[in-house]
Amino acid sequence: MELTKSMNAFSVNGKTYHLPDKAVVVICFDGCGDEYLDVALARDKMPNLKKMALRGYRGMVRGALPSFTNVNNTSIVTGVSPALHGICGNFFYDRERDQEIMMNSAEYLRTPTILAAAAKTGRKVAVITAKDKLRDILSHELEGIAFSAEKATEAREDTHGIAQVNKFIGLDTPPVYSAEASLFVLKAGVALLQQKKADFLYLSLTDYMQHKYAPEAAESLAFYQAIDTEFGRLLDLGAIVGITADHGMNAKQNPDGSPKVIYLGSLLEEKFGQGFRIICPITDPYVKHHGALGSYVVVYLPEGMAEAEVKTWLLQQPGITEVHGRDTSLHLLEQPGDRIGDLIVLSGRDTVLGKTPADHDLSALDSGLRSHGGRYEEMVPMAISHPLNTEYQAKAAGDPRNFDIFEFCLNGIAD
Ligand code: ZN
Ligand code: ZN
Repeated sequence: MELTKSMNAFSVNGKTYHLPDKAVVVICFDGCGDEYLDVALARDKMPNLKKMALRGYRGMVRGALPSFTNVNNTSIVTGVSPALHGICGNFFYDRERDQEIMMNSAEYLRTPTILAAAAKTGRKVAVITAKDKLRDILSHELEGIAFSAEKATEAREDTHGIAQVNKFIGLDTPPVYSAEASLFVLKAGVALLQQKKADFLYLSLTDYMQHKYAPEAAESLAFYQAIDTEFGRLLDLGAIVGITADHGMNAKQNPDGSPKVIYLGSLLEEKFGQGFRIICPITDPYVKHHGALGSYVVVYLPEGMAEAEVKTWLLQQPGITEVHGRDTSLHLLEQPGDRIGDLIVLSGRDTVLGKTPADHDLSALDSGLRSHGGRYEEMVPMAISHPLNTEYQAKAAGDPRNFDIFEFCLNGIAD
């Protein structure tokens, strides 16, 4: 494939990336816990992924915490942890302004992106997301193409680097709560690559299907099969394809299928009195499929409250697996110091954390509760279409991160 004339390398956020001659496609397969791939592969639904695993690489990588979408997408496109890029959830509490602030905007991003840097070398960069909420951060300072499946009809040449997306791809805009929203992103990527409009792509899907269906559900298998077909098209076009996820997904339920929720606000109030502020950083305008319930919340203590006492008590509560004060939040959880509270609380594989029952609408959960946010959704798959060189084989065997995926695709491919 013919490429635009480009420099061979660029550096961003302390890492140097070497540009291959081939087109590069990195996919964030939203909510794709490794079990989904295992089940689909075992049932022969993903022949192209199987090919990738045999010829290239398939393994596990560690995501950033909290295991939420915007946190990890931002890590992937910057190559660094939330401590550096600053995006640590959909919401944070600004103590100075005494306001809960939504972070879905590049205004809160503290580092440049790999995508914008690649574009500066002359590569034809394209970012396509399922939900429009991510587009602003991912396309920060990008000279290239950026649009979402959700608002494809709104894409304009001067603001999105492309117009008439639907005509170009030959597809109507899909509903945002659908399997088609993710497939649209991949099909758009195929079209851009095919028509040589882009040679450096970041394709970010949505986890609607994983929130709704377990790996072995017929709907999941059909979805993974359709996704795999698009992987095959990208491989056929000769691109280096790297696939990872922002987080996994687990059933957060009691054995009877009811949501397993710890209402932390109610619990703390009952034990220690009023004045706690709980931030559920999963909260966003698209709450339908998780009720703003995840396995990670941030707690601000009332003034004068003894942190150690609250922490010790919380750690004794069933379902709570980790409680971090400021120090370990910064170092172990890689959080930005000015956007976290006094305590960060994580819950178990089957448990989510909320404020009070009145703050969460469970009636919208029509098919049980599957969610993410905590430690048990932190390890995610990584697959690369091409064999890794010795250096990156060793790196893959260590503690690779999902936000190293551009590094693997650009620096890690064997000659
Ligand atoms: Zn996600
Ligand atoms: Zn989600």
